[in-house]
Amino acid sequence: MSTAVNQTTPAKVDGLRRRIGFWLRNDAAALLWPGRCLVCEEEAGEAIDLCERCVAGLPWLGPACLRCAMPLPFAHPPGAACGACQATPPPLDQVHAAYLYAAPLDRLVPRFKFHRDLAAGRLLSQLMAERFEPLPRPEALVPVPLHRARLRQRGYDQALELARPLAQVLGVPLRPGLLRRVRATAAQSELDREARSRNLRDAFRASPAAMPRRVVLVDDVMTTGATLHAAARALRRAGVERVDAWVCARAP
Ligand SMILES: [Zn+2]
Ligand SMILES: [Zn+2]
Repeated sequence: MSTAVNQTTPAKVDGLRRRIGFWLRNDAAALLWPGRCLVCEEEAGEAIDLCERCVAGLPWLGPACLRCAMPLPFAHPPGAACGACQATPPPLDQVHAAYLYAAPLDRLVPRFKFHRDLAAGRLLSQLMAERFEPLPRPEALVPVPLHRARLRQRGYDQALELARPLAQVLGVPLRPGLLRRVRATAAQSELDREARSRNLRDAFRASPAAMPRRVVLVDDVMTTGATLHAAARALRRAGVERVDAWVCARAP
């Protein structure tokens, strides 16, 4: 069991660019027109579309609950769950968040999600790959699916777009077909906590196919966790033994 991601400190920031070598742009165009930082528009490095200063300013998640990625005080015993997760164990075994949902993630995520900024999506996926690389690999990555009505409206599924390169880089099978969203639900952002989980009851259905034993759900942001929990319950009902979630950002 690894707690590496939720415990990473800013001291590790130096290695970020080096370790995202798999996306290194070494073609002639990149040399002629160096990338611009997607946050401040300064010149970016070779590996990712962020400048040194913005990489250093990314909102790291300090010590966090292993079950829900909620930030915890530094004095909390490492690896222990928060009070809420101890009182009511959630259907997710572990949640790993690459970052806190704070600047600049709170701009990059909506740009990708609502304004078709695919460069921002690529950057978010790179950051997730870099942060989740040390974690044990599951048997499958399953992006939290959109309902087809929402997909038609938006034109792309943001969780799938984040999960696709992540699966490739980490060498984990991508299995979006294991979970379907069978009910179009109201936008979660407009609902309070209780209404969110009511809204999501039976929203997901797992495929009748044989299920892997260990699955990681992928999503952009975790807020209350209601969506991820509903998805995890559907997978567990279908026989998955262990469900974790990897999200780009945790909104505390
Ligand atoms: Zn910058
Ligand atoms: Zn917790």
